[in-house]
Amino acid sequence: MVVLDHVNKHFGDLHVLEDINLTVKRGEVVVVIGPSGAGKSTLCRAINRLETIDSGTIEIDGVSLPAEGRPLARLRADVGMVFQSFNLFAHKTILENVTLGPTKVRRLQKAQAREQAMALLERVGVANQADKYPAQLSGGQQQRVAIARSLAMRPKVMLFDEPTSALDPEMINEVLDVMTDLAKDGMTMIVVSHEMGFARKAANRVVFMADGKVMEEATPEEFFTNPQTSRAKDFLSKIL
Ligand code: ADP
Ligand code: MG
Repeated sequence: MVVLDHVNKHFGDLHVLEDINLTVKRGEVVVVIGPSGAGKSTLCRAINRLETIDSGTIEIDGVSLPAEGRPLARLRADVGMVFQSFNLFAHKTILENVTLGPTKVRRLQKAQAREQAMALLERVGVANQADKYPAQLSGGQQQRVAIARSLAMRPKVMLFDEPTSALDPEMINEVLDVMTDLAKDGMTMIVVSHEMGFARKAANRVVFMADGKVMEEATPEEFFTNPQTSRAKDFLSKIL
């Protein structure tokens, strides 16, 4: 579903992505973990084409990342992204947040979009908040709406960039539970997160990044119990 082949990117002198090779199969859940500055967010942004790359290729479902125009809009719709900050439209209701993309980009009829949105809000457990505005919801609820909004575009793959790191501790699990359900339903997911419980429960693979490189790839069990590189050991000793 997602294939990165010899991907390189620089920010000036900084080699932020260095020869990244990564394959994520349909239905697979990959958790990306690593210290701050490793290039994890840049990796997500490159996959969603929010950042260009200098060399190498990125394919989504067999299609090479197009440069611009309509194919790019199409590709963006295929790749859902949920960020640390919830990024909901503040002046739209919860329901409008979820219907906007499908009516504008997917050209869904209003009634259909509304029906789909209510089903998705139900799925993430906030259907009863549909007529409220984002500021009236808790962080955990807002993040679940952000997930519903992404799903409304019927993406082929979902990227999550530290989706729970801005949340109060008691709200982390309600978001992780939604993500775990999504994983069980067979969604292809790339998740930047240091939540080990989630990785153990939902991930097929953990990818450890540092200094712009993929340093290790292993099952969660292998990675957390027997990391191979000193960088990973050092990192784990700090977060455990
Ligand atoms: P992570 O998400 O793993 O913390 P990032 O991908 O955000 O890492 O950043 C990797 C490195 O690239 C960091 O050193 C960061 O300062 C740098 N960086 C990120 N975005 C930019 C940018 N737009 N311009 C210049 N440097 C950037
Ligand atoms: Mg980041």
